[in-house]
Amino acid sequence: VQTDLVQFMQDIIDRFEMLQHEHLRFIRNLPERKIMVQIDTDKMTQVVDNVISNAIKYSPEGGTITIAASLHGRKIKVSIADQGVGIPKNNVSKIFDRFFRVDRARSRDLGGTGLGLAITKEIVLAHGGDIWAESEWGQGTTIHFTLPLKKVKGE
Ligand code: ATP
Ligand code: MG
Repeated sequence: VQTDLVQFMQDIIDRFEMLQHEHLRFIRNLPERKIMVQIDTDKMTQVVDNVISNAIKYSPEGGTITIAASLHGRKIKVSIADQGVGIPKNNVSKIFDRFFRVDRARSRDLGGTGLGLAITKEIVLAHGGDIWAESEWGQGTTIHFTLPLKKVKGE
């Protein structure tokens, strides 16, 4: 379906804000105008939910979750940044692997399966986008993903 990704993101963030996570604040750096993309909205909701849920889950001290979107040529890039526990350098690229979890003991306490980001990546790739992480152990994590803009007729 053709969807305005900006409104789509606003609606999801609104929903998370209504849950009123203690000590957590959301900052939105989203474009003022519509950005049309061709997405499966159920699947893309799963993507954004998974990434924001992780940002909350791995931010035990709270802090700020900053959600940004910006245009890069024929793609839109969405970035979701937290100030949580972070990921050790040598593990950053592994978090998209099935069942990979940074700290098994801690992760077990927090619950989950370690499948969230593997599914997330599969969905983003199926949409013609890409996904990667940047993180500093103890400082926070940013997940970036891209999506191609809707093709214009005649292209
Ligand atoms: P679930 O299947 O419920 O999502 P999960 O959150 O453990 O379980 P993933 O979402 O796939 O699994 O994430 C994999 C691992 O990557 C996590 O266990 C965690 O160690 C690490 N991780 C993911 N997001 C973050 C984040 N924002 N900050 C710190 N670590 C993260
Ligand atoms: Mg998860």
